[in-house]
Amino acid sequence: MRWELDWLENRARLSPNKIAVIDELTNKAWTFEQLNKRAYSTVSWLYTRGVKKGDRVALLSPNHISYFDLLFACGKIGAIFVPLNWRLSMHEINEILADCTPKVIGIHPEFEAISQQLNTVSTFLIGDANYEVQVSYSISEEISETDPLAMIYTGGTTGKPKGVVLSHQSILWNAINTILSWGLAEDDVTVNYMPMFHTGGLNALSIPLLMMGGTVVIGEPFLGEKAVETLHRFNCTTILLVPTMYHSLVQTDEFQKSDFPCMKIFLSGAAPCPMQIYEAFQKKGLAFKEGYGLTEAGPNNFYISPEDAQMNRGSVGKPMLFNTIKLVKTDGSETEPNEVGELLIKGKHSFSFYWNHEQETKETVKDGWIHTGDLAKRDEQGFYYIVGRKKEMIITGGENVYPLEIEQWLAAHPAIDEVAVLGLPDEKWGEVVAAFITFKHTYSIQDEELITYCESKLGRYKIPKLFIRLEELPKTHVGKIDKKKLKEMNIHS
Ligand code: ATP
Repeated sequence: MRWELDWLENRARLSPNKIAVIDELTNKAWTFEQLNKRAYSTVSWLYTRGVKKGDRVALLSPNHISYFDLLFACGKIGAIFVPLNWRLSMHEINEILADCTPKVIGIHPEFEAISQQLNTVSTFLIGDANYEVQVSYSISEEISETDPLAMIYTGGTTGKPKGVVLSHQSILWNAINTILSWGLAEDDVTVNYMPMFHTGGLNALSIPLLMMGGTVVIGEPFLGEKAVETLHRFNCTTILLVPTMYHSLVQTDEFQKSDFPCMKIFLSGAAPCPMQIYEAFQKKGLAFKEGYGLTEAGPNNFYISPEDAQMNRGSVGKPMLFNTIKLVKTDGSETEPNEVGELLIKGKHSFSFYWNHEQETKETVKDGWIHTGDLAKRDEQGFYYIVGRKKEMIITGGENVYPLEIEQWLAAHPAIDEVAVLGLPDEKWGEVVAAFITFKHTYSIQDEELITYCESKLGRYKIPKLFIRLEELPKTHVGKIDKKKLKEMNIHS
């Protein structure tokens, strides 16, 4: 029986000759019909390796079409696709493998040499299947929309990665929300630079766009100047990057010189976006907006038009169509406009549970509401603003300080390149506000000048007591500023 939610099957029938995926590195392209054939060939590979419904199928690979092959093949037979973060150490990868116990692991040839060190039962080299062969199975598995389809390990920004189980319906409803809210169309083309082992590289834009019949270019590793050329070469209409990528993109001559005639929208997500990036796009008259999400919910949750995004800089917009959001205070009551509360999300795009972490699932999901651990506020017009992570809120001398507000102000200083603000333990104040800063070019500015600058905007208790100058800020595997590493530097006030 063919599973009714196999949208790739339908897409292959509707637009068989439309280009679905292009690999920038090899210049190979695949139509939707070929993508569907590849999924069936992959099913045949998985079957010969004894994979059954519910089994985990892992993948260790840089960005590559095999992410789609395995995801779609798992979808057809009810297996669970587990993309692995190849940037982790072998020890960390083995910890994840011990957690998810996959039946097989697909290995990209680049990782063949290290595959011996993986504690696992069976590995196979991706790319070996004969994708030209039309394998037509009468797949007998009964699959329901709440069955797991993928398990994505969280970025580990705040702790150890946890396996977030996403059902068929979660991935589908995230795509429906995204297609409707962002207005994705069949003629849209994107280049994906986000890691495909992360929800940002898979679910945020690539899967919704393929579902809609658009084209995904799998990009070579991100380099600001090269990205501009790639956007032109493939007539891209949209792109999703993390703010640190935009930070380097907008500084290139190539960006400054280009007017991007095909680009409909530049999207930023996964971390707070500095205001200078909004300015860089506004100056060039290019549409830009920020999204907010997390592996556990979609990831996409909000919609804002580019005009509203420029008028309400820093806002992620209003909840998407099939999404319910509320902001709650510590006593559980809902916030008033402009009051900060924890962001709770409910919708069919929600994850099912954390693999092997029943207790954490219970703590995170209550009555169907995902407690995101993020703080946000809503203004009178209904626009939402992410204020920061609950865990990162600083309490200094009894006052609550949200690092993002200070980061946004410091980042607007002409000499400052990047900044991260966090609380450091202090005997007198409980915590003190500390700013980790990198400067542009050869600038370096004395603390006194930075304090005066902060005083012009921020309340006294928010002004950093420590300015720590670094050559570079550490980044996570997804490109977010890694505050865990900064904390581990063990700097004292
Ligand atoms: P871990 O859960 O392992 O600690 P992580 O929180 O980085 O890692 P992800 O699912 O990769 O896990 O990222 C989701 C988080 O990213 C959100 O909870 C939020 O804190 C942050 N985030 C995403 N988009 C934005 C945004 N536009 N502004 C501010 N923060 C954002």
